[in-house]
Amino acid sequence: MHFTIKPVSFTCNLDCDYCFYLPKGQEQGMLTKGIMSDEVLEAFIVRYIKECPTDHVYFTWQGGEPLMAGRKFFEKAFALQSQYANGKVIENAIQTNATLINDDWCELFKKHKVLLGVSIDGPEHLHDKYRKNKHQQGSHKDVIAGIELLKKHQIPFNTLTCINESNYEHPLEVYHYLKELGSTFMQFSEVVETTPENTDFDHIAPNYEVKPFSLTPKAYGTFMGAIFKEWIAKDIGKIVIRQFESLISQVLGMGHHSCVWENCCPDNFVLEANGDIYECDQAVYPKYKLANILDIEKAANLGVIPCSVNGQKAANEENSISSIKALKASRLSAHKLQLCDDCKQCTYLVLCNGGCIKHRIDLQNGVSKSYFCEGYKELFKIMVPYLNTMVYLENNKTPYIAIKSLVPQIEASLKENPL
Ligand code: SF4
Ligand code: SF4
Repeated sequence: MHFTIKPVSFTCNLDCDYCFYLPKGQEQGMLTKGIMSDEVLEAFIVRYIKECPTDHVYFTWQGGEPLMAGRKFFEKAFALQSQYANGKVIENAIQTNATLINDDWCELFKKHKVLLGVSIDGPEHLHDKYRKNKHQQGSHKDVIAGIELLKKHQIPFNTLTCINESNYEHPLEVYHYLKELGSTFMQFSEVVETTPENTDFDHIAPNYEVKPFSLTPKAYGTFMGAIFKEWIAKDIGKIVIRQFESLISQVLGMGHHSCVWENCCPDNFVLEANGDIYECDQAVYPKYKLANILDIEKAANLGVIPCSVNGQKAANEENSISSIKALKASRLSAHKLQLCDDCKQCTYLVLCNGGCIKHRIDLQNGVSKSYFCEGYKELFKIMVPYLNTMVYLENNKTPYIAIKSLVPQIEASLKENPL
């Protein structure tokens, strides 16, 4: 069980063209959620720490722009975490556009050992095309100013890069840029948004129009494939790239780290500023609302016995849910298990599992299929010879990162016997 917490929900100081999240607020009339109230914040912190089955409890704060909740909000949150920790170790991560960071924020991050995730799409000329402020000016300079402050205060940060129409032709430029910035943990997120918006995964429209900033399917494979080849030869063991580590973990029998390629949707819930809980950040739509934290708290205080809830039942019987452990992303998982014929017969099914539901906008005999299929196949084709070698190494009690020294041999063999 993991929660992404949105202290200001749909509020952001930027206005990125491709943002999938802010338009939901406008469309669903949810712009009035404001900042998370003390009541919601405390109810959630108490319950989450109490019900987390592990000794470490991870809080991930996200937006909109979470720093718009203000320093006082986070001071309160961290104080409540300490108050209710009950011996558990609390870890905090904040995903931010970094443009609001100043010395005061850095002191707070440092004091509470907060890990920062910074959204950046590459150098200025690639980043600024879509990541703009409210005056339609590029935000890159402000992001870099934020990163410089993090470095000055020695606060660790990761990067999240959206692959889109502006940067997809420049994989190595983007990768080297992120490396030079000092990012040692990178995430890349494939952008596709459509008209109409894909909001009900039971009813896929016959014809979606893909918005111009979106990535083409093939471009995903080309982009990630180029970075993979560079990373495996030079940086494996030094730099973590979430997608690659996820695929390696999967072939080594330890399961995926990235839900996109898992065979079900893990319980990766979202807590909105007003206390509403949804199955996933990609599914903040009425149909995928599970409960409200205040109703859960009320039911728990009344002594309602927790029962496993899912799907429609959860939405209709919110007041009967008395435990966040009882929540399940079961509507999304049920969708995930529905595979089209191509996926069922695909060589790469064990790696891909059909991809994220949000991206399944192509219809095949009435069953949806990932828009990114072609790109996934291209990436997997590039990676498989290396993945097989890693499995071989591990089976022979050699750590898989030893593959770095074998890359020239693998490449020579692929030249002689292309796939
Ligand atoms: S690569 Fe394409 S066909 Fe294969 S499992 Fe993934 S989405 Fe399905
Ligand atoms: S809907 Fe997509 S992003 Fe959400 S949990 Fe499922 S696979 Fe992950």
